[in-house]
Amino acid sequence: MLRDIPSVHAILENPKVQHWVETLSRDWALQIIRTTLDDIRCEVQETKKPISKDHMYDRLSQNFLQFQKSSLKRVINATGVLIHTNLGRAPLAKKALEKIKEVGEGYSTVEFNIKKNERGERLDHLEKLLCALTGAQSALVVNNNAAALFLCLNTLAFQKKVLISRSELVEIGSSFRIPDIMEKSGALLKEVGTTNKTRLKDYEKACDVSTSLFLKIHKSNYDIVGFTQEVPIRELAQLSRKRKKPLLFDAGSGLLFRKWPIFQDEPLISECIEQGADLITFSGDKLLGGPQAGLIVGKKKWIEKLKKNPLYRVLRVDKLLLTALEETLRIYTLPHPEEEIPFLKLLLTPMDVLRARAQTLKSELALSFMIIREDVSKVGGGAFPKLSIPTVALCFSLPKGKLLQFEQHLRLSQDTIPVIGRIQKECFVIDLRTVFESELSCLKKSLVSALNLLER
Ligand SMILES: *Cc1c(COP(=O)(O)O)cnc(C)c1O
Repeated sequence: MLRDIPSVHAILENPKVQHWVETLSRDWALQIIRTTLDDIRCEVQETKKPISKDHMYDRLSQNFLQFQKSSLKRVINATGVLIHTNLGRAPLAKKALEKIKEVGEGYSTVEFNIKKNERGERLDHLEKLLCALTGAQSALVVNNNAAALFLCLNTLAFQKKVLISRSELVEIGSSFRIPDIMEKSGALLKEVGTTNKTRLKDYEKACDVSTSLFLKIHKSNYDIVGFTQEVPIRELAQLSRKRKKPLLFDAGSGLLFRKWPIFQDEPLISECIEQGADLITFSGDKLLGGPQAGLIVGKKKWIEKLKKNPLYRVLRVDKLLLTALEETLRIYTLPHPEEEIPFLKLLLTPMDVLRARAQTLKSELALSFMIIREDVSKVGGGAFPKLSIPTVALCFSLPKGKLLQFEQHLRLSQDTIPVIGRIQKECFVIDLRTVFESELSCLKKSLVSALNLLER
């Protein structure tokens, strides 16, 4: 049976493969053929069943195709989760994308002071802007918020005690757990208070000569209710100043303005600075609506220390990210950021607009098994557990087998943009809150093509 498997040479001559060999480099094509044949040989030996020529060429085509098509691709997010970590969190603003193209295509001033004709600072482009937007003295940017917190702990609390309330030892996404991050950073965790109540006295009692830092973490993704108490930043800042230790606040999301009532319970970065936090860390790709980044703002004295830590070099951001972040922050200096930051645009789309879009799709598709339902969306990304955003959804009720097929066709579609929705109580749900207006015609096309496949 193994003898039936053709040689690499014979395959190379086969017209079915010629096309691939011509579009790829010869070495690469040979490598794909060899690995495919190795796999097939193993299978034949294991199963003791012959393999048809057609099947073999199908496998080869699949493998060639897999390497030719990008694995990372655009999808339509119809899940209703706005900051969906698995789907890339915040989409970037047009201005940020245009600037990335301009800067990325050529050389740039990333570390060049063009006025003085000398070496410049990578973060000069951003620091002033971040300080102006938050009221901080100084600012720093690293790869993500986890890195920001890690750098702060490693710099300010290596082998020293960090005081943190028991209620704030949180997990944010499976790989980010405060106690684990602290341990790896070299900081020594000192829990204060209880799970539901932590008082200023608890911090006072725990603070001694081996304490280096007060840490407060924003409970981004959960809430405790009932018999609870926590110490506000202002009070904790007074104590930390008295004891001459810095106060670090991990704000998580990073809200810059109070302009949108929907965020009224979220801490504002500038207010936290004003209340006396010495350092604040937050993400670039959550509420801020920019690229993945960890932003650190606060007192110059501490930021200077962070900059001198060799770890900062390890966590430093690249020029494309800096470009995207600078352009995103610049949008916040304009009168209407919500018109340009895609995340805000989606979040603040009025219900009437979503209703009208749903009606248009309904009449265009004309399906008996599709209804429009008003539902709720989530912010996601480990933020706002309590916040439910009203939304309009298309619900497809189909028998179970067809439902799964429909979901799969939409997700795995090769010729249209894949659509990611969710199955909820025997319905396939397309949540329009997270679908851009510019994606509606693509969405319709994808739906029509998936429906056509179903009818066969
Ligand atoms: C999301 C979050 C983080 C992690 O931020 P990344 O940018 O994903 O690394 C850390 N702390 C808090 C409080 C968060 O909400």
